[in-house]
Amino acid sequence: MKYALVTGGSRGIGRAICQKLAEMGNHIIVNYNSNEAAAKETANLVKKHGVNAVLMKFDVANKQEVNNSLVKWLEDNPEFKIEILVNNAGFRKDALFMWMEEELWQSVLDVNIAGFYNVTKPVFSKMLTNRFGRIINVVSLSGIKGMPGQTNYSAAKSAIIGATKALAQEVGRAKITVNAVAPGFIKTDMTEGIEEKQYRSIIPLKRFGTVDEVADVVAFLASDKASYITGEVISINGGLHT
Ligand code: NAP
Repeated sequence: MKYALVTGGSRGIGRAICQKLAEMGNHIIVNYNSNEAAAKETANLVKKHGVNAVLMKFDVANKQEVNNSLVKWLEDNPEFKIEILVNNAGFRKDALFMWMEEELWQSVLDVNIAGFYNVTKPVFSKMLTNRFGRIINVVSLSGIKGMPGQTNYSAAKSAIIGATKALAQEVGRAKITVNAVAPGFIKTDMTEGIEEKQYRSIIPLKRFGTVDEVADVVAFLASDKASYITGEVISINGGLHT
């Protein structure tokens, strides 16, 4: 039983990734933080592809919750393997640095950086034993270019780009690849309230991207076709920044 774990799989980019990986024949663990109804909807979409969908609620930033759910699931199901891990859960809380209270700074780092550690560590240990794995981290254009009003989010996504490159070099011999995708503006709840019209002039492809366009790249990186790619960051931003 080969599973793919997608953190933040309940909505947006994560849901599209769950669907693409299910279409490829993987059983899916749909992680979510609080939106159970959305997570159930993702699970139903996944099952349409004839694979299993496991709903798993935990806050990636909360190690205790990760231990109680993910680590316990791994212990209870030694016959199941998580071969694909997509660290997609993320959120932003923007403010100019001048007005950025510590809570804004810390909470964004907690979800995006501690979240990566908390989830990747237990899954990765099993991948090492199995001598196979695909880890794909969803970062952001903000982590490459930096975005004003997002020093917290840019710092967090940059950190994960560094972690991607470092980890890739540690684990190549175990046939584990580690890559990242860096979306620009993608139409999801996260970009609600950001006017597409306002940004069209600076995006060479003149529009925001779709969740499927991001999920297709993740699916490629998770597939056998990407077996010789590791330590890479692939931008999906309509040419906004190269
Ligand atoms: P979204 O529509 O806001 O969905 C966020 C997802 O992450 C939801 O499934 C949410 O779960 C989950 N999540 C949030 N905090 C979590 C936590 N602490 N623990 C577990 N799950 C958590 O966001 P999105 O636009 O799809 O973004 C997905 C990823 O792409 C994020 O890493 C984001 O930083 C990155 N990204 C997005 C864009 C963009 O333009 N949209 C651009 C660059 C990068 P619940 O449903 O339970 O709340």
